[in-house]
Amino acid sequence: MVDILPWQQDIWQGLIGRTQHAHAYLLHGPAGSGKRQMAELFARFLLCKQPQAAQACGQCRSCKLYAADSHPDMLRVEPEEPGKGILIAYVRELVASIQQTAQQGGRQVVILEPAEVMTLESANALLKSLEEPSAGTVFLLITHQLSFLLPTIKSRCVLQACPLPDLAQAKTWLAQQLPSLDDTQLTKLLQLSGGSPLKAQQFAEDNVLQMRADVVEGVKQLLKRQLAPAQLAGQWTKLPTVLLLDWFAQWCQNILRYQLTQNTVDLGLQDMQPVLGHMAKFVQAEQLTETHSWILERRNKLLRRAPLRADLLLESLLVRWMGLIGF
Ligand SMILES: [Zn+2]
Repeated sequence: MVDILPWQQDIWQGLIGRTQHAHAYLLHGPAGSGKRQMAELFARFLLCKQPQAAQACGQCRSCKLYAADSHPDMLRVEPEEPGKGILIAYVRELVASIQQTAQQGGRQVVILEPAEVMTLESANALLKSLEEPSAGTVFLLITHQLSFLLPTIKSRCVLQACPLPDLAQAKTWLAQQLPSLDDTQLTKLLQLSGGSPLKAQQFAEDNVLQMRADVVEGVKQLLKRQLAPAQLAGQWTKLPTVLLLDWFAQWCQNILRYQLTQNTVDLGLQDMQPVLGHMAKFVQAEQLTETHSWILERRNKLLRRAPLRADLLLESLLVRWMGLIGF
């Protein structure tokens, strides 16, 4: 089991230091800030039979069951598949299970993530449990889209913000996890991950720095017409398509912003600044906005596991990209 992340120490002390635990907490903050990790540690702490000063003991029966992922009072609710909603059937099952256990007494913890994908029906079904709490049940709702949640849900929970660390703290932590990387590599990983050290660590494991360099080089060759869209798409089929789409969507935004401000900072990461700066001279804002929406639409389809062929999708993307500068 992992430790509390250094940028969450104060939040952690605040949570476990409460004289009385709330019935429901809503952990919210940017993706990759470590909300899930903290919720897991908090759940283990709440279930532990003999918690130490600041954490679960790790020794009691409860901690052992938790570690084996078989604690009967640890309930988890999530969508059937990533990108899908949390269905009412799950929430009903949860509510029934809570009521049954509550009758036997004892504590139970529910982790529900991501809270923003609850359907309206599900949220209303959950609301009943939040309004008439069973003694001993603690809900830990997690979201990075706080504004998508019903006000009635939010008002029943203690809201706990989980921000990202500042850049210095993020880099210090990341350097400890990845001692073989130099400062430039760490900085780039953090830039690519939007400042999330956890995501940056994952990117390092997935060799994303090399991938990024290859992709940037590929785009340059495409624009110089040294590679055709189909050839480049063929080279990229093994790469994570959603991440590629993220980058292209980001580049659209970079160009749009730069066209307004003429500020190089708005061109994003250094590796693409020359290419995007050049494109910004020719591209119509309207066409860019259209391409941006096209990318996001495909990205959402992929997240919902729509059967799209990566090579064809990437080829269409690259043909569009060339079209932006009139090829
Ligand atoms: Zn314990």
